[in-house]
Amino acid sequence: MPVNYFYPDYEVVRDRDKCIQCRVCERQCANEVHSYDKDRNLMLADSSKCVDCQRCVSLCPTGALKIVKSDNTFKENSNWSGTIIKELYRQAESGGVLLSSMGNPLPFPVYWDKMLINASQVTNPSIDPLREPMETKVYLGKKSSEIQRDKNGNLVNNLSPYLTLSVPIMFSAMSYGSISYNAHESLARAATALGIYYNTGEGGLHEDFYKYGKNTIVQVASGRFGVYKDYLEAGAAIEIKMGQGAKPGIGGHLPGEKIVGDVSRTRMIPEGSDAISPAPHHDIYSIEDLRQLVDSLKEATDYKKPVIVKIAAVHNVAAIASGIARSGADIIAIDGFRGGTGAAPTRIRDNVGIPIELALASVDERLRQEGIRDNVSIVVGGSIRSSSDIIKAVALGADAVYIATAALLALGCHLCRSCQTGKCNWGIATQKPELVKRLNPNVGYKRLINLITAWDHEIKEMMGGMGINSIEALKGNRLMLRGVGLTEKELEILGIKHAGE
Ligand code: SF4
Ligand code: SF4
Repeated sequence: MPVNYFYPDYEVVRDRDKCIQCRVCERQCANEVHSYDKDRNLMLADSSKCVDCQRCVSLCPTGALKIVKSDNTFKENSNWSGTIIKELYRQAESGGVLLSSMGNPLPFPVYWDKMLINASQVTNPSIDPLREPMETKVYLGKKSSEIQRDKNGNLVNNLSPYLTLSVPIMFSAMSYGSISYNAHESLARAATALGIYYNTGEGGLHEDFYKYGKNTIVQVASGRFGVYKDYLEAGAAIEIKMGQGAKPGIGGHLPGEKIVGDVSRTRMIPEGSDAISPAPHHDIYSIEDLRQLVDSLKEATDYKKPVIVKIAAVHNVAAIASGIARSGADIIAIDGFRGGTGAAPTRIRDNVGIPIELALASVDERLRQEGIRDNVSIVVGGSIRSSSDIIKAVALGADAVYIATAALLALGCHLCRSCQTGKCNWGIATQKPELVKRLNPNVGYKRLINLITAWDHEIKEMMGGMGINSIEALKGNRLMLRGVGLTEKELEILGIKHAGE
């Protein structure tokens, strides 16, 4: 008998007194953890298949189930942890690259949690957002550097195309293929109702969603899937994806088995063929090349759409952003190393890139020093978890944020980090029809609206507490932040003082 090196990470614990053998858990689990033993009239569980998505726990009508972390241990070793040992066994078995999904789970510092927000006390009184207007609307795009008048003295509108957001939040790129039709519909409808934007990702735009075009950002990635004139014209803005936080420096690969039906039509590639996005854009090897693509996309859409360039936060991000700001792009999107994904090599996801907080602070500072900050807006993503993260991002210099993992959580994601299997029990990261229908877009879009509405209230309350009545007045206002437990160098990069100073 071969030796089994695959020790379960989780254990399914079933309370036999509560279990009524209804077999709901068996039907709900796409990983086939649960089964029914007819002879013994007993429910059984194969814990080795459990990914801790919590679907069975949520739907068990009698509360008979819980999933616990296995307490099976390897001999203590602070160098060779159990996770490392198990990953090594998997590679010795498969000979392949380890794959994961969602964001980097390792315990790197979360700088959002090491910054605290200011509040007014005696002078500069706070503002009550329930009684006084608070402006959370933002405009993304190049700002005008001078006022122009015609010969009659009337103001000339020389603004570049821009995006208008009711709150400084957008749904980040997630392709149709990596997430389901119902997840995309939920995002599109919520963005439309909220007056913000969602992003197609690199998978093209499903024909049913062209009607949401005014609130859609269409992405152009290295694979150019689904990119053609009508697609570019359908969106409110075009995003060139140069990189993403979860896998900086590498391309993407959606396996052929996921390229079926509508996904293949939307990507404009044959059914069953692998969708491989090359690591680089094969026509971009310099900022000049990038400028040409920005120009081409603007020309193709009659200079009516702002162009976003999205990059991963990497070591020399400030210099890269400076180049992008000079390339004619209207918006720079920066994705930190905690950004989520449908599938990425584990080692890259967990070890490549830098925290978004440090990247944002250094980019904003560099663009200011070079006098080109108003040439572009800055949007940041990569694990924005709450309204307070957004306040801190804006105070560090962001115009707005992208959220993706938080949006999926609102749709029911339980962060089991198994998206790459295509068996999402919550109907989000899957194309299996029986799983997709578990996510009801009529419910999903309302949950997204609730989340953003709640964050909008909290943002207004925190701004009011600071005595600030608009996002614009908070932007880059680093005096509103203080660090706790940070080194001199970290404070210097973030451009903030330590608490108590
Ligand atoms: S869903 Fe709950 S009650 Fe039903 S079989 Fe599973 S454990 Fe038992
Ligand atoms: S989207 Fe689905 S598969 Fe991916 S982490 Fe969330 S619950 Fe798990």
